[in-house]
Amino acid sequence: MKINQVVVIGSGTMGSGIAAQLCNANIPVTLLDLKTEISEQAREKIYKSRPPLLIDKSKIKNINIGNINDDFDTVKNADWIVEAVVERIDIKHNIYEKIFKNRKSGAIVSSNTSSIPIKVLSEKLTNDEKKDFCITHFFNPVRYMGLLEIVKNENTDLEKINSLKIFCEQDLGKGAIICNDTPGFLGNRVGVYAMQVAMTEAFKMKLSIEEADAVFGRPMGIPKTGVFGLYDLIGIDLMADVLKSFIKELPKHDEFQIVAKEIPLVTKLIETGYTGRKGKGGFYRMNKENNQKILEAINLETGEYLPSKKIDLRIDTVDLDTLINKDDKYGEYAWSVISKIIKYASSLVPEITDKFNDIDEAMRLGFNWTMGPFEMLKSIGVKNFFKRIDNFKNNKFLENLSKSLDENFYGQRQLYTEIETLGKIKTTATNVDKNKSAEIYRFRDFNIIEFTTKACALDYDSMDALKKATDKPLIIINESMQFSAGVNLTYTMNFADKGDFKSIEKFIKYFQETCKHLKYSKYPVVSAPSGLTLGGGFEVLVQSNFVVSHTNIVIGLVETIVGLIPAGGGCKEMLWRWSQTENAKQDQDYAALKVFDIIGYAKTATSPIEAEPLKYLRPGDKKIMNRNSLFSVSKKIIEENNNFIPPTECFFNLSGKSVKDKMIKILEKLYNEKVILDHGMEVGKELANVLSGGNTTIDKTLSEDDFFKLELDAFMRLIETKKTQERIKFTLATGKPLVN
Ligand code: NAD
Repeated sequence: MKINQVVVIGSGTMGSGIAAQLCNANIPVTLLDLKTEISEQAREKIYKSRPPLLIDKSKIKNINIGNINDDFDTVKNADWIVEAVVERIDIKHNIYEKIFKNRKSGAIVSSNTSSIPIKVLSEKLTNDEKKDFCITHFFNPVRYMGLLEIVKNENTDLEKINSLKIFCEQDLGKGAIICNDTPGFLGNRVGVYAMQVAMTEAFKMKLSIEEADAVFGRPMGIPKTGVFGLYDLIGIDLMADVLKSFIKELPKHDEFQIVAKEIPLVTKLIETGYTGRKGKGGFYRMNKENNQKILEAINLETGEYLPSKKIDLRIDTVDLDTLINKDDKYGEYAWSVISKIIKYASSLVPEITDKFNDIDEAMRLGFNWTMGPFEMLKSIGVKNFFKRIDNFKNNKFLENLSKSLDENFYGQRQLYTEIETLGKIKTTATNVDKNKSAEIYRFRDFNIIEFTTKACALDYDSMDALKKATDKPLIIINESMQFSAGVNLTYTMNFADKGDFKSIEKFIKYFQETCKHLKYSKYPVVSAPSGLTLGGGFEVLVQSNFVVSHTNIVIGLVETIVGLIPAGGGCKEMLWRWSQTENAKQDQDYAALKVFDIIGYAKTATSPIEAEPLKYLRPGDKKIMNRNSLFSVSKKIIEENNNFIPPTECFFNLSGKSVKDKMIKILEKLYNEKVILDHGMEVGKELANVLSGGNTTIDKTLSEDDFFKLELDAFMRLIETKKTQERIKFTLATGKPLVN
């Protein structure tokens, strides 16, 4: 069945998120709420949302709005009606009655409920109506969270559910997993349990919230918000409601009941308005003293707030075995939490799903974990796990595994999708090489490279791996949150702090050499970004031969923010792209001025559609809604380019001083208006020098190497200044820019 038109009822957080994602897919959608003003406000919120729910503001035209009394007729034309109203069964039942009276025959009706069983939702429907009814449980924010759980009832038309699943995969870009009708389905059942275990164990073991978040975070392959940070982000009051619903729905003997018990400190926080980031603060709060903002953390024993202490376990890669064997309270806490999560998740098989693999994928897609509980078990090692675990009576999964002790119990990944994904093929690909920053796989006759550092930041080792990997056609892709946040600034600053600028120069030269190599190697290179693709990450992409981009990217050259200029070929490539335009043919300074504006302001785009007008991406680059498809589309490009011919070198004619003067005028205006300060002026001048071609005139031809030299010299002059170093240090410490 084809979905051409959708009605979403309820325009709150979830309804508007779902409507926005339908808009992104160019599906006309009508958003209905109690009053038109409510839906109108929701539409405005979508338009202004940050991070944006729309991949391009123009997509808003796909949303119509209305109210459930005057505009209910719109339901008659819809192929899919999504209910996303408040979590009240009486209200939901009333709405279904109205929908089924009005919908066109065969139209799908679904609910976004997170806690009401489908048997209760559908109890008043006829058998015929049940055929077309299911739960479609999206995660917030809908554009960015990959998981969609689809729950069917005993009568659901399987063929129809399958076509809805395919639509949600292909058009809406979701990882759609079909689940049983059990409380919290897969993601929340295990994810919320994990949060509760992490929290209750922290109380029990007397860890501070910063310590707990430092362990139940990056070292475990879990987002850095950890548990207490995540509680604040979701809303402490909302979490309390979620727990109440689990307590009510789950049997008394379920292990979840133990960790879901009310905690007096949490109750007190809610009562006093400390509901998290949306309230006065939560476990963490921002306090203002003497006009200075201070991040404070609550003491779990006394309830007092004290300045938050940064805990750095100095673990950058996920290595569970090392973590749980650490001979300190952190190791003990990690083991206690991980083992409980593994025990609980495995005890739910086959009740919540007969494919344990789906639980892992739900945790990846719905909670951004880098591995789910069963992958954690695999990573610790089956024998190691059983050496340490105590009682697992009545847990069929663990009982069986304890007998077989099969280290290879895991099998295939991502069974929920037909798509040939990176996750699936990684298990069959050969591991060709690995260093501390990247991993190279060989699949068929091509290579795949995955960066493995924090935020996939680039260093000498990343370049080494990239260079090595070009002995075959190459796909640069990864499963982590970011494609690459750019050059590793900590790594660069370590050299700068020692006054070792020679090593920085050596690294930048190697970076340039590698990017040139990517561009001109005899085999095609494909970059397949998702998430942050900034600075050096963008330079790798822009010097690849092909790009397959996920719709959720943040892309751009942001070096000027930290007092630098792009020096891996970013200036050169942007200049080349802009010099190919019609305007540039009419005006010799057009391209240089345009790129000066883009890089000078560190402009970024939050989707491929926004990236194209800036020429960060080209019209021919592929734009893909479903992240799972990045690999197969890249693979197809490699297969189609058996007779690949590398591009020919670019040459540039620039007017030198003449255009540089124009740029300096722009800088002076900004300086006089105090938009930029002294160092902003310095950085701007260095950028102007590069983009004007340096000491050149329009009749001289500059090569790519000339540009690499200009970029390198400017970069080195800047990194040696105290003010650039101050900017870098400030940004590393706070994540914010320093204007100096
Ligand atoms: P919300 O409170 O933000 O929005 C609910 C909307 O429903 C409001 O705009 C309200 O005016 C509207 N509404 C109430 N009665 C209505 C009626 N009779 N007709 C039309 N509109 C009506 O809620 P939400 O967070 O968007 O949640 C919606 C559903 O999604 C709930 O079932 C919830 O359990 C589920 N859910 C929420 C989240 C989340 O993170 N918020 C995640 C997954 C699922």
